[in-house]
Amino acid sequence: MARLLRPETVSQALRLLADGEVGTKLVAGGTAVMLMMRAGLLFPERLVALEHVADLDYVEVEPDAVRLGALTRLRDLERSVPLASALPTLARAIGFVANHRVRNRATIGGCLSEADYASDPPAVLASLGARVRLRSVRGEREVPVTDFLVGYYETVLEHDELLTEVVIPRPGPRVRTTYLKYVSRSAEDRPCVGVAAYVDADESGRTEEVRVAVGAATANPFMLGDVAQMLGGGPLDAGACRAVGEAYERAIEPIGDVRGSSDYRRKVTGRLVARALETTALSGHGNGAFRL
Ligand SMILES: Cc1cc2nc3c(=O)[nH]c(=O)nc-3n(C[C@H](O)[C@H](O)[C@H](O)COP(=O)(O)OP(=O)(O)OC[C@H]3O[C@@H](n4cnc5c(N)ncnc54)[C@H](O)[C@@H]3O)c2cc1C
Repeated sequence: MARLLRPETVSQALRLLADGEVGTKLVAGGTAVMLMMRAGLLFPERLVALEHVADLDYVEVEPDAVRLGALTRLRDLERSVPLASALPTLARAIGFVANHRVRNRATIGGCLSEADYASDPPAVLASLGARVRLRSVRGEREVPVTDFLVGYYETVLEHDELLTEVVIPRPGPRVRTTYLKYVSRSAEDRPCVGVAAYVDADESGRTEEVRVAVGAATANPFMLGDVAQMLGGGPLDAGACRAVGEAYERAIEPIGDVRGSSDYRRKVTGRLVARALETTALSGHGNGAFRL
């Protein structure tokens, strides 16, 4: 039977983590940890429950960045008016995670730390250039989300580190963003493939910066380097969107699982990347999220 510890401050939580390299497990919303314990996959000696840790539940919208406390529940993020107005695509994409019961418990810090490849928020956060703040008794560091997630269920978190904050740079006024969640089974399923697009183009349609992150198909969000360079700074017309989709389809090495084989995911990726770019740049529906 695991010993349950309930720190009330970040410092107390950090001390508990520093004390217990082996057999200590953090639990935030518990939606992943409890399932693993019930399935007999996890036998922690000590559970450090973060529920009562004050000060890590917030949405702060600053001129240059949006800060999300790691213990903010997905349901609160989905319903946050400041978040919806600063980063509408992220707020809507979070609303596509699972169902109300899960989102009422799950936290953004837990979602990222779990590092389950079949998740929605990581691709959107990667496309936005988000970073995570990690704290321990030894100090603090900030890591891009793309470097934080390093493998299937694997992050760069050390045993004594706590993810305390997600920091998202605010896109400039020209930037448009989209997230497309493709589900292959039931409507509230995890994504088979999710694509987040970020397009910064001038009034004539010439692209300055284009980022595309493919989620749920590989260990961590898959991004090709400089997509705008691939387009030669030219406009993102239907042909260019298709060409980028084809480049992603050629480059990605997707996982196969119950939601789709590797080959199926590869084909879906090509179509979805093209569609996400078209939606963002051409349809006038930019800055939204859609479940397909
Ligand atoms: C039925 C169901 C359907 C789902 N569908 C989707 C879906 O459609 N899309 C999607 O994206 N996700 C989906 N999920 C996953 C869900 O989003 C995650 O389970 C949830 O976000 C995890 O957050 P949590 O706070 O409950 O984490 P917990 O279960 O508390 O913890 C998860 C992991 O993170 C660690 N951890 C937690 N907080 C921190 C922290 N602050 N610092 C360091 N480590 C920490 C824990 O030790 C643990 O290893 C689904 C889950 C369920 C149960």
